[in-house]
Amino acid sequence: MSASPQFTVAFHGRFAQELPELGTPWEAQAVRDPELLVLNEPLAAVMGLDPSALQGTDGLLLLTGNLLPEGAAPVAQVYAGHQFGHYSPRLGDGRALLLGEITDGDGRLRDVHLKGSGRTPFARGGDGQAAVGPMLREYILSEAMHALGVPTTRSLAVTSTGRPVYRETELPGAVLTRVASSHLRVGTFQYARATGDTELLRRLADHAIDRHYPAAAKAENPYLELLEDVVTAQASLVSQWMLAGFVHGVMNTDNMTISGETIDYGPCAFMDAFDPSTVYSSIDQAGRYAYGNQPAAAEWNLARLAEALLPLLHEDEQQAVEIATDALEGFAADYAAAWSRGAKAKLGLAHDVDNVTASVLARELLVLLEEHHVDLTLLFRHLGAAASGSAEQARSLFGDAASFDDWMQRWLILGPDGELMSQVNPIYIPRNHLVEEALASATEGDLAPLHQLLNAVTRPYEERPGLERYAAPAPADFGAYRTFCGT
Ligand code: AMP
Ligand code: MG
Repeated sequence: MSASPQFTVAFHGRFAQELPELGTPWEAQAVRDPELLVLNEPLAAVMGLDPSALQGTDGLLLLTGNLLPEGAAPVAQVYAGHQFGHYSPRLGDGRALLLGEITDGDGRLRDVHLKGSGRTPFARGGDGQAAVGPMLREYILSEAMHALGVPTTRSLAVTSTGRPVYRETELPGAVLTRVASSHLRVGTFQYARATGDTELLRRLADHAIDRHYPAAAKAENPYLELLEDVVTAQASLVSQWMLAGFVHGVMNTDNMTISGETIDYGPCAFMDAFDPSTVYSSIDQAGRYAYGNQPAAAEWNLARLAEALLPLLHEDEQQAVEIATDALEGFAADYAAAWSRGAKAKLGLAHDVDNVTASVLARELLVLLEEHHVDLTLLFRHLGAAASGSAEQARSLFGDAASFDDWMQRWLILGPDGELMSQVNPIYIPRNHLVEEALASATEGDLAPLHQLLNAVTRPYEERPGLERYAAPAPADFGAYRTFCGT
């Protein structure tokens, strides 16, 4: 492995240098016959990486960790985490590596990370591999989320490795090259806390503050400010998931970021007919991470973060607990405020409509959607047309439109702005049947459906002729949708 003159962008090894206890230097597995399946050219450009160089031989080696750019110091990160409520003291990157950080065109530090790059000391029983389908799934879902304006890790590329992966059947292997503002997780803090080394915990917290919440450094209690900032960021994030109908599916504490970005696109999916009990993940049998439980699950995870931070909050443990409890109490108010703001925008209501009126209306509408099994995305999109005088499409989603008509009259009186609504209510989301279709074709070697779907969902608000099937719900014979972890 050697540096290449084609890639002049400097990599930093900041995490590796500042927090050596939280990462093990490691190398990516050699690829056999790498082939670029998808490259995010706009993101490459933001990162200062030349998209045409990335498509060349050295580019593919760089994207798979087989050629190290100047400054890169790959590490497998260690973290702990509560998985479905049960604590695991040592998880970590079992099949992933942090290559290093790049300062992007906006001056922000971004992690470049690999998933599917081979076994590491944290692999436990896993094979360290990833299959083409699930890595493309992360690419589609994360880029759709970004286009919807939801904070998320990004996908730079998916490269097939030429190496088979054995799941229920033999599948083509792949590496996802992921970009994130960091990979610090609630589980990273749990791990640091569990070492008993308070200075390590402090260094980790200082690193997080510097990267994500620099203003906290000037607060009277910077670590309390950090906790409050993460609480606010996660409350906002989960409110956006809820408004978009996104079900994360595996909200374990190792899958919750400190930055407030969505991470870990394993079993996630977008809901179609509105139903708070929706669960897609095959392993979430108790529905712990059902759509309607997501705010509570986030709050539970933040309590684990608060526990990890206790030694930094106050030297007296009792007082530290009181400080942490107060900070956690902010979650409910932050969440309600963020959700109300978003719901009001989705209903096209102006500032002079008070927030309580808007929230009550939005909640009443969701009750109707649940009762009548109405598609969340389509309804909000059609409401935009209803605001501009044509309510037929929205009405047609209800078998019996009488209760909807009553709701609509009360809403229309408030003067919703249909034009603004079309800028916040998407027409194209990665619908489950379309995602499955694109992944099945790609696994067989046909990338056309993937690119067509990406074209639709990366411009989600812009209705375009010819894309009608990307706006339509799943056909009736698609049946109940199931997703899988550990793919
Ligand atoms: P996840 O459910 O994707 O958040 O993964 C939970 C843990 O399992 C993390 O520590 C992953 O690195 C690890 N893991 C998942 N799949 C594999 C695999 N195929 N090989 C090794 N480790 C894995
Ligand atoms: Mg994970």
